[in-house]
Amino acid sequence: MSSLFVRTLREDPADAEVPSHRLLVRAGYIRRAAPGIYTWLPLGLRVYRNVERIVREEMDAIGAQELQFPALLPREPYEATNRWTEYGDGVFRLKDRKGADYLLGPTHEEMFTLAVKDLYSSYKDLPVWLYQIQTKYRDEARPRAGLMRGREFVMKDSYSFDVTDEGLEASYQAHRDAYVRIFDRLGFDYVVVEATSGAMGGSRSEEFLARLEVGEDTFVSSPGGYAANVEAVRTPAPAPLPWDDAPAAHVEDTPDTPTIATLVDHLNAAHPRDERPWTAADTLKNVLLVLTHPDGTREPLAIGLPGDREVDQKRLEGQLEPIAVEAMDDEELRKHPTLVKGYIGPGVLGEGAASGIRYLVDPRVSEGTRWVTGADEPGRHVLDLVCGRDFTPDGTIEAAALREGDPAPDGSGPLSLARGIEMGHIFQLGRKYAESLGLQVLDENGKLVTVTMGSYGIGVSRAVPVIAEGNHDELGLCWPRAIAPADVHLVAAGKDPQLLQEAERLAADLSGRGLDVVLDDRPRLSPGVKFKDAELIGVPTIVVVGKGLVDGVVEVKDRRTGERQDVAVGQVVEHLVGLVRG
Ligand code: ATP
Ligand code: MG
Repeated sequence: MSSLFVRTLREDPADAEVPSHRLLVRAGYIRRAAPGIYTWLPLGLRVYRNVERIVREEMDAIGAQELQFPALLPREPYEATNRWTEYGDGVFRLKDRKGADYLLGPTHEEMFTLAVKDLYSSYKDLPVWLYQIQTKYRDEARPRAGLMRGREFVMKDSYSFDVTDEGLEASYQAHRDAYVRIFDRLGFDYVVVEATSGAMGGSRSEEFLARLEVGEDTFVSSPGGYAANVEAVRTPAPAPLPWDDAPAAHVEDTPDTPTIATLVDHLNAAHPRDERPWTAADTLKNVLLVLTHPDGTREPLAIGLPGDREVDQKRLEGQLEPIAVEAMDDEELRKHPTLVKGYIGPGVLGEGAASGIRYLVDPRVSEGTRWVTGADEPGRHVLDLVCGRDFTPDGTIEAAALREGDPAPDGSGPLSLARGIEMGHIFQLGRKYAESLGLQVLDENGKLVTVTMGSYGIGVSRAVPVIAEGNHDELGLCWPRAIAPADVHLVAAGKDPQLLQEAERLAADLSGRGLDVVLDDRPRLSPGVKFKDAELIGVPTIVVVGKGLVDGVVEVKDRRTGERQDVAVGQVVEHLVGLVRG
């Protein structure tokens, strides 16, 4: 500690909102260089390398081969897949001295696909699994929580190349198994959920989410084992209902009812029903949005959903990616004179209707359902408006926020919601990239066939804050042994030179046995300050060489449980080797 390049801080950094970020900065693991861009200090780099090692070992174990692409990439391959445009503001772009376009790779599907295309030409060469552990660049709109959402970060990305669909399935399964082993070894709480494949296209897809309150993803799970990112949940479409007994739609005066709550109160006062009172779920709310396509074109969109549901922005974006979504502001609204704020109904929505605005509805707004909704006139609503009879939406969209207790789509019980952050994502890309980049091989019959691909990512740098987030207490970090920056933190506690001598001897013996040791040999610091630093830094075992030495013992303390034990000096090396080797 007297020479280690570290300065612990007593104060929390001003820009850190989550505990892992605060602690990693205070304990001297990382330092901010720019928003979303961080330096690994020596302690941090050790933890990071441990994560990297575990990922690499398990990838090698399934027979994936490591290679490394550059981070600085030419435009052309990304043009071929349209991602030069699709990525929009999310990618860092630059020009070389000749004016040629380059980008800093946000992900490398194109490069992997082209490499296989260049080198391989026969089904006999496949399957092949390739991976890299490499720095990615994404100009994230909201870099957050230190390294959790960085603009420069390290990803392990692998790709599988197969001729047949069964081959892809096997490659996918092998990666899935490797991911389970990796995340079990890394030591954090995670859940595997169904996912959407987002901008990548493709079919089967799962995410490994770390279960964390500070995460940006919401996932649902049911008692029957269903688990999915909310973005991937498909609400089952109800069977069509007959409408023969439905009265004709009728417009009513509903003065001063611009909100759902005021409308429901009005309905119960002016149009009471025998069977049950009106609730927000009887109303059809129409939300207006503006979509921005990657090429910059803007387009209005209306979404109809039951009045007791909110639009979940993230879920909606998940469906529309790479299109960006924002609420329609008043200025934009004024450009559509048929829209009456607070009283907008399907009467003017949909392609071909007065506003011409595309109209998508929640799957619960299905054929035969009856609604109270805006009549497109101030202070008026229409009742008994039947979907399929009185209006026909342009399609459905999963944009409504899910709620605790909603039924699981597979009938496996009520859903509960929780938060998480994506640590890994595996999906079957299929033939999309191979098709756009022309990756074909000759099959057994000498016929050219398009290769099918899988894509598998892990947030290697993200793992460090994620593990820290799940492994800390009010005093500091408590690393799991597998990724801790050292095995033992040895504190020479006291001024007596004999204490330091003994601590140094122990440190040397432990190193001799292959253990990594942090030795706090700082001569002028009080034991209290040293203990605080040891607790902040979070090495799993703290050994105090102090007062007990006159009785021939040192104290061995478990950082996580706080348990202390006096161990005879003559036995402590063996004792610690036992602890570390488990
Ligand atoms: P997210 O949903 O968190 O934005 P993503 O779906 O964009 O992630 P992928 O393209 O699937 O991410 O990348 C693979 C892995 O890389 C993710 O599972 C995640 O662990 C990690 N990752 C993605 N973006 C970042 C980032 N900005 N900072 C750190 N790690 C990231
Ligand atoms: Mg993902």
